[in-house]
Amino acid sequence: IPRRIAYELPEVMNRAGKVPLGLKRKRLRVVVTGGAGFVGSHLVDRLLERGDSVIVVDNFFTGRKENLLHQLKNPRFELIRHDVVEPILLEVDQIYHLACPASPVHYKFNPVKTIKTNVVGTLNMLGLAKRVGARFLLTSTSEVYGDPLQHPQVETYWGNVNPIGVRSCYDEGKRVAETLTMDYHRGLNIEVRIARIFNTYGPRMCLDDGRVVSNFVAQALRKEPLTVYGDGKQTRSFQFVSDLVEGLMRLMEGDHVGPFNLGNPGEFTMLELAQVVQDTIDRNAKIEYRPNTEDDPHMRKPDISKAKKLLGWEPMVSLRDGLPQMVSDFRQRLFGDEKEAI
Ligand code: NAD
Ligand code: UDP
Ligand code: UDP
Repeated sequence: IPRRIAYELPEVMNRAGKVPLGLKRKRLRVVVTGGAGFVGSHLVDRLLERGDSVIVVDNFFTGRKENLLHQLKNPRFELIRHDVVEPILLEVDQIYHLACPASPVHYKFNPVKTIKTNVVGTLNMLGLAKRVGARFLLTSTSEVYGDPLQHPQVETYWGNVNPIGVRSCYDEGKRVAETLTMDYHRGLNIEVRIARIFNTYGPRMCLDDGRVVSNFVAQALRKEPLTVYGDGKQTRSFQFVSDLVEGLMRLMEGDHVGPFNLGNPGEFTMLELAQVVQDTIDRNAKIEYRPNTEDDPHMRKPDISKAKKLLGWEPMVSLRDGLPQMVSDFRQRLFGDEKEAI
């Protein structure tokens, strides 16, 4: 089957990712870099569920084999320990390029490695896409908008980024990754897709990864105070992981390059988030104020009109509905309470 047809057929999928009876689609070979991580492992589950073959490429910096244990015996699944900074030869139809630490604590741990991952890692995956004619999807980030001066953020906004700050290894790294992606597209005709992902939470996040939702949930479960950085009035918009995975798959299968904001427009201050965590886990949980980190963006909220219009996508899960699912997973991992496991 010519490669182009392979991409047209999956559009017959319905919202649940199932193909209605009578309509056959080609089984795709998909590589997910960073597939052992939080978002990647949920994406892998959905791709396998719809019948594709999946290769995960991951160096396990922040990813865990446990996230994929349930797939290890699946004959359509393969796990390769590999660092995307090194070239790799694979034969695939689609590349979901997620490899990169996402938590500020993790990406600041070795900033030069973070830049290499974003720049050389993305270059290698684009080189792979070019060699085999695969479609390439980059998971970029809302951090390309920096500390935004426009609110909510629209894809046409160019951002307000400090090029020499402690976050630049990540936000400037992702900006270069977007540039490389567009230059391979324009100059070499590679089929590409760009997603700008806003703060996402859900089961399988690392317990102590320093991100605010995982911190608050783990702290409340351990009966420790919730650590609010700064005055707690900065805002973020929190998206449940299943909504993101749906958006990524629609973007890959659709006809539009992007970039597309993928996020939940529901905006919360960190103090409001703490309140939701208290309501969900422990009304008596205390709050402890800590100094904020350098260059912390003051507000962040996606304008998702473009994704709504062109991908027919919008988030379905509110913070109050999604949080309990993450709490069950964290409770199970922290205390092994199987009754609470999802
Ligand atoms: P994560 O840290 O859980 O997953 C990243 C995965 O990439 C891990 O499995 C890690 O081991 C792997 N990895 C890192 N460096 C690598 C390298 N050099 N070679 C091979 N594998 C490598 O993070 P996540 O939340 O699942 O994020 C996935 C992607 O989505 C990242 O690209 C991130 O920048 C992007 N993103 C996530 C969010 C979010 O809120 N979760 C927001 C914006 C963008
Ligand atoms: N690359 C890779 N796998 C492939 C093809 C290329 O890892 O299947 C790497 C390659 O090693 C190079 C990068 O991707 O470092 C960019 O490749 P491209 O062919 O675009 O550039 P060139 O090798 O011509 O500089
Ligand atoms: N934050 C907080 N307490 C924590 C961790 C983070 O108040 O324990 C704040 C942080 O200062 C930032 C927001 O929560 O303003 C989101 O931080 P996170 O690291 O989750 O993601 P970011 O959006 O900064 O990448």
